Amino acid sequence: MDFEFSEEQKEFRNQIARFVDERVAPRAEELDESCLFPLDLMEELGELGYLGIKYPEEDGGAGLDQPHIYHAIFCEELARGSMGVGAVLAMHTSTATFGLYKWGNKELKRRYLAPALQGKKIAAFGLTEPNAGSDAASLRTKAVRKGDEYVLNGTKIFISNGTMADFVTIAARTSQEKGFKGISLFLVDTATPGFSVGRRLNKFSTHCSDAAELVLEDVRVPAECLLGEENMGLINLQKSLNDDRMITAALSLGVARAAYQAALRYSQEREQFGRPICQFQAVRFRLVDMLARLETARLYTYHVAAKADQGLDITSEAAMAKLVSSEAANYVCRMCVSVYGGYGLMEEYPAQRYLRDSFFPLVAGGTSDIMRVIIAKGMGI
Ligand SMILES: Cc1cc2nc3c(=O)[nH]c(=O)nc-3n(C[C@H](O)[C@H](O)[C@H](O)COP(=O)(O)OP(=O)(O)OC[C@H]3O[C@@H](n4cnc5c(N)ncnc54)[C@H](O)[C@@H]3O)c2cc1C
Repeated sequence: MDFEFSEEQKEFRNQIARFVDERVAPRAEELDESCLFPLDLMEELGELGYLGIKYPEEDGGAGLDQPHIYHAIFCEELARGSMGVGAVLAMHTSTATFGLYKWGNKELKRRYLAPALQGKKIAAFGLTEPNAGSDAASLRTKAVRKGDEYVLNGTKIFISNGTMADFVTIAARTSQEKGFKGISLFLVDTATPGFSVGRRLNKFSTHCSDAAELVLEDVRVPAECLLGEENMGLINLQKSLNDDRMITAALSLGVARAAYQAALRYSQEREQFGRPICQFQAVRFRLVDMLARLETARLYTYHVAAKADQGLDITSEAAMAKLVSSEAANYVCRMCVSVYGGYGLMEEYPAQRYLRDSFFPLVAGGTSDIMRVIIAKGMGI
């Protein structure tokens, strides 16, 4: 297959890279300190049309011919500037809006999807619960049908965008049957009585991307807020979860590239024993290993994005892309800290932030162990 980006894709990368260099990267440190997501960026990117990359024009999207490749480029570039910003926007533009795009009726799309793609409403996705993480299918949040409504009760945890969201796609049990075959998806407006943010969780990684506990107490939603068929929620969502893993791989590439470039620059400027430290074989080899892991992970991730654009099943491949890219990013960022020596530990240098942020893709969208479980299943073992 051809691994070259088309001229349009190269131009797209240049455009978003310029935006990131001007509007995101210079604020990354401040956002890391304040732990606040810059809402102005959301609106700006919405106005520029970036938030609808994955969706067709009739739904307010960009109607691109290879949306997965474009979306991966978008996420990689954002994470190069700030992994926290990338994490918020990757979630907003994929899994958090996918159910609504795929199964929402016209009116729901008018009220929620259109403003989300314009950056005027924020979306989140609530699957994980305190007792249901890797084993998401054991979730306990319940949705019970009462007349024309469903009544939802339960608690969600680690929900990205949770404190800022205007609406959340909530996965809830609609049948006592165990596992995947009893879970449905609901669009829940966060202004609905009974919905609340339990708390914002402090974390050491991706500071400006929030992680929230969400509480649902007798939250009543109209029956049309059921997204897709009852009990088929997680089965239907598989494609989106695959996309999400591929995009998390792209986010990993972004932070890895930022760390590699910073380490390379630093190694050429920093002198010890009368010469730049890049002239020491140990440092040079570290830089070589960083680049080699980054470039191979990159090639594979875009290969998977291209497969997704061909409509092929990418279940194993997306898990492999996330496994390889997130582990590569964590390695690259660790080596970056080491190239910086003592300065790598100092908050005034970005190396420590890159390393902290590189832990996010190791867990979000499923841990590396779970990626291995998925890949092994694909291997038939
Ligand atoms: C920053 C952040 C943002 C997140 N955003 C969201 C979000 O927006 N929406 C959402 O729904 N969720 C979100 N999550 C949740 C995330 O998907 C889960 O944290 C993840 O799936 C792991 O679940 P857990 O934390 O409960 O760990 P556990 O499932 O308890 O795992 C603990 C350990 O056991 C291992 N383990 C578990 N089962 C197996 C197995 N079968 N085989 C081998 N090893 C296993 C794991 O690999 C891990 O090392 C987010 C998490 C984080 C950290």
